[in-house]
Amino acid sequence: MIKNKYSIERRYINKRQNVRPGTRLVSGTPGFLVAHDTGNPGASADNHFNYFQTLVNRSASAQVFIDDKKILEIIPTGTGLNPAEKAWHVLYNVTTDNKLYGDDANDIALGVELCYGGKIDFKAAYDRFVWYLAYCCDKWRLNPLTHIPSHKQLDPTRKSDVDQALMTAGKTLKDLLYDVAKEMQEQPAVTVVPAAVQLPANVAQTLIDDYISQAWYAVRKAGDALTAQHLHNLANNLRLAARIPLQPGSTAPFTQLPKSNVQELVFRWLSPGWIAAKVKGDKTAMTYYNNTANHLRRAAGMPTE
Ligand SMILES: [Zn+2]
Repeated sequence: MIKNKYSIERRYINKRQNVRPGTRLVSGTPGFLVAHDTGNPGASADNHFNYFQTLVNRSASAQVFIDDKKILEIIPTGTGLNPAEKAWHVLYNVTTDNKLYGDDANDIALGVELCYGGKIDFKAAYDRFVWYLAYCCDKWRLNPLTHIPSHKQLDPTRKSDVDQALMTAGKTLKDLLYDVAKEMQEQPAVTVVPAAVQLPANVAQTLIDDYISQAWYAVRKAGDALTAQHLHNLANNLRLAARIPLQPGSTAPFTQLPKSNVQELVFRWLSPGWIAAKVKGDKTAMTYYNNTANHLRRAAGMPTE
């Protein structure tokens, strides 16, 4: 489950008996999730916030509205800091919820509404809807194949959601449930940091002979003691990464090459060398510069290029 794929916006309507009684689900955390659509093509999540914020003449609501731009909780669900509260999204006198789950949907379930139609991009809204349902199933250990009834399943004589919205894109409730199950299996991409490996001694020595020593002589002659010291350290870091003893007769453990040294060597010498070789069309030299840079990267535990 990729838990940060989308963000959840929480902007709650005011507590009022006909939309948000402010009482907690009797189950504490949600026991199942009812898949709804708004039955109001083209109306966004924000439109529904406004509608329920000002609704006075009847009892109706749901906790969550999802469109192609956002996942909006207008009544707390327990995904955030506030515990789940009741909403009025399935009639109390229907009995399927009691038969299947032992209680009324309003008392133990969340109502999750898919916004669709009009200018709403179905795919973008559907992907958020699937992810949100998966997120809830993951969080409260619900099986999506058994714990996401559609409103139509609970109240078939009056309702045709969420199926009617899915149908606009040729999808069924079964497609939705399997997509939710699949979403729960998705894993975040893992960046593998390779372990640093020893630099071949000949690579280290060649770099020291071809570039560092020459540069060291030049800056020393110019009286730049600071840069001379830096180049001296750079050469020693290469020796340590190649396990070349700094003192004759001593043994050197492998020491990872600092990444900044790799960047400097590549930027200062290998990359210009590669470009010059490319201009000349010298493929052998190009390969040499590439391979050398990758030896350095490996010695620093960086991915090769
Ligand atoms: Zn519904």
